Amino acid sequence: MTSTLPILDNHMHLNPSGRCLDAVREFARAGGTHIVLVSLPPWSLGIEINKPEDYRQVFDKVLKIARRAEEAEKVKVFVVLGVHPAELTKYYGRIGFARAVEIMNGGLEIASEYVKNGLAIGLKSGRPHYEVEPKLWDASNDIMRHSFELAKDIGCAVQVHTESATEEGLAEIVGIARDVGLQASKVVKHFSPPMVKVCERLGIFPSVLASEDAIQTALGEGTRFMMETDYIDDPKRPGSVLGPKTIPKRTKQLIPEWGEDVFWKIHKEAPEKVYGVEINI
Ligand SMILES: [Zn+2]
Repeated sequence: MTSTLPILDNHMHLNPSGRCLDAVREFARAGGTHIVLVSLPPWSLGIEINKPEDYRQVFDKVLKIARRAEEAEKVKVFVVLGVHPAELTKYYGRIGFARAVEIMNGGLEIASEYVKNGLAIGLKSGRPHYEVEPKLWDASNDIMRHSFELAKDIGCAVQVHTESATEEGLAEIVGIARDVGLQASKVVKHFSPPMVKVCERLGIFPSVLASEDAIQTALGEGTRFMMETDYIDDPKRPGSVLGPKTIPKRTKQLIPEWGEDVFWKIHKEAPEKVYGVEINI
């Protein structure tokens, strides 16, 4: 087989006030070919949310960045849109609890419209990774449930940002998905530790953070996962996450030991199946 291996980063952010296209160039030069670009929380883009419609500014900005990246480099950029669990914590003091929930649910509905129109491939939601009061936790679960309902209706995937992964926590999330009729394999656990077997058993799809030896460990458990950096593109937090070169670099480092076939599964078969897209070079 002479075709070139695609290399996909399943969770990256790009910010016009960060390195943005420079980061894309770095990714592409290292051998990266496909990016799943995830929407940033509105405040990272300087956008204030007062009503669901305000999310359009966020989503349109992300789509514009995706287009510019594709024009500038030989990469394909898929977009995932939605809300960030931290938004609830941030908004409810200002606009009230019920209204904050309503606005975030509305934002997800708008995001699902973009998916329906072929502009994005999936939704993003979840629940806080830090301790919150029960009221906030329950509301976050309700918002996540709503994203699952929307995903079920349009047949798309949802990337979830959650607390540190435990088997119980993941099982609970899978339970919420099943409750509304969404296949667990359409739920992508973002920032996942290399718990490939646990995720396989539960049905949820892990997007493994490619830190240190995580990918080695993941490969030791199987090939049912994707790889991500969660590159955050925030100049104020340099080194807080993995750099844009990480996925291509790690993939190439690991090929001599693990062979190329496993990476065709990770970078092509997995995203094609989870998102219903085509990964070609
Ligand atoms: Zn992220």
